[in-house]
Amino acid sequence: MNYYSTNKQSPAVGLQEAIIKGLAGDGGLYMPERIPALPLSFFEKIQEMNFGEMSCEVAAAFFGEDLEADVLKEIVRDTLSFDTPLVQVEDAVYSLELFHGPTLAFKDVGARFMARLLGYFIRWQGLEQVKVLVATSGDTGSAVANGFLDVAGIHVYVLYPKGKVSAIQECQFTTLGRNITALEIDGTFDDCQALVKTAFMDADLNGKMRLTSANSINVARFLPQAFYYFNAYAQLRRRGAGENMVVCVPSGNFGNLTAGLIARKMGLPVKRFIAANNRNDIFLQYLQTGVYSPKPSVQTLANAMDVGNPSNFARILDLYGHSHQTVTEIISGFACSDEMIRDTTASCYRETGYLLDPHGACGYRALKNLRQAGETGVFLETAHPAKFKDTIESIIGKAVEIPPKLQAFMKGKKQSVALGKDFSEFKQWLAANG
Ligand SMILES: *Cc1c(COP(=O)(O)O)cnc(C)c1O
Repeated sequence: MNYYSTNKQSPAVGLQEAIIKGLAGDGGLYMPERIPALPLSFFEKIQEMNFGEMSCEVAAAFFGEDLEADVLKEIVRDTLSFDTPLVQVEDAVYSLELFHGPTLAFKDVGARFMARLLGYFIRWQGLEQVKVLVATSGDTGSAVANGFLDVAGIHVYVLYPKGKVSAIQECQFTTLGRNITALEIDGTFDDCQALVKTAFMDADLNGKMRLTSANSINVARFLPQAFYYFNAYAQLRRRGAGENMVVCVPSGNFGNLTAGLIARKMGLPVKRFIAANNRNDIFLQYLQTGVYSPKPSVQTLANAMDVGNPSNFARILDLYGHSHQTVTEIISGFACSDEMIRDTTASCYRETGYLLDPHGACGYRALKNLRQAGETGVFLETAHPAKFKDTIESIIGKAVEIPPKLQAFMKGKKQSVALGKDFSEFKQWLAANG
C-alpha cells in the first residue's frame, strides 16, 4: 500500500519509507491511499473474536500487502500483550480502559506496534541504524521510550517541556538509559514539537543521520490505534448493546480520534464521535466557526492534551474532503475547564465509584453533556489515574494506590540533557552527540 501526503506536494511512498520519514517532505502527514472496508462477515462474528484476532484482521487490511501474514500476526500479538476492557460506569455509559499496557496509557499500543515494525525492517530488510525523535507532552515519551527500549539498531531521543510533565511521567522516560536519551527542553510542548518538525526538514542534519519520528503523526503509531475501537464494539455486542454507539475521545494531537474515524471508514458502526478538549479548544472553535486558528497551548490538569496546533487536524480534513459540514456531521466537540475536570472527577467517583484520570474526565464529561437518548456512549480512558496521583488525590481527598508497574519506574535515577528551545542549539547537540 502506498501513502500520500496530506499536502499533496510530495510523491506517495511505500510503508517503509512512510514510517522512516514520519512527516512527508512537503510538511504533510502520510495517509493510506485506500481505506479498506472490512467484510460484513467480519462484523457478524466480531463478538466471537478476541482482541488479538480482530486486530490481526484490521492490521492485515492495511499492512497485509507489505508484510507476510506470519510476521504481521507476530507483531500484532506481541504489541497487544494486554487487553482494553470495556467497563460500565453507569446506564449507557462505558469506559474503554486503554491503560493496561506497560506505561499505563493508550499510547502503548501505537508505540509498541511501531517499535516492532521498525525493528523488523532494520533486522530483515537491512535498514541502517535509525534515530527516533519524539516530542512529548507526557505520555508519548514514556510509551515510545518503553516500546523501543533495547530494540537493536534504534536510538530514541525524547524531547519534553521542562517542568510541564508530572513527576511520574518524567521518570518513565528519564530513568531507562540504554538506547533512550531524554532531552529536557526549556519551553512548551509546542516548542518540542517544532524542534522535531524542523529537524526532519533540515537537509544538513538528514544528510548526516537517519532520522525518524515516533509522534502520533507516524502511520505505524497512528493506524494501530484503530484496533481498540473494534474491541469496544465487540464488547458492546457481547452485552447486546452495539446499537447507536457514540465514541468520545479525549484529544490533544487528535491521533487517537483520527484512528477512530479510520475504523468507522472501514465499516465499524460508530454513529458519531465526540472530541473532548481541555481549555485548548482549537478544534471546538473550528467546529463552531469553520475557521482553524492554532494558538499557543495553555497548561491544564489534562496535560497530555495541552496542544495548541493539533497535527492530525490535517488528516481529519483530508478524510472528509475539507468539508466543514461533513466534519461537523460526524464529530461534535466539547471543552472542559480545569474546574470541570475537578468537579467531574469528584462527582463521578462519588456517584458511581469509578475513578477517572484528568483526560478521561474530559471524555466522560463531554459524553455526559452531548449523549442523546438512545445512544450508547463509550469514552476512552486514556491513562491510569495513578499517573496523576497528586491531582486526583487533591480532588477526591483519598490516597490513590500506585500500581506495581508504575512503582518500578519511580525507583530509577533521572538522567536528562537540558537544552533551550532554539533549533540551532538542538541541531548542534544532535550533530555532536547523536
Ligand atoms: C496523548 C494523550 C491524549 C491525547 O491523544 P491524541 O492522540 O494526541 O489526541 C489523551 N490522553 C492521554 C492520557 C494522552 O497521553
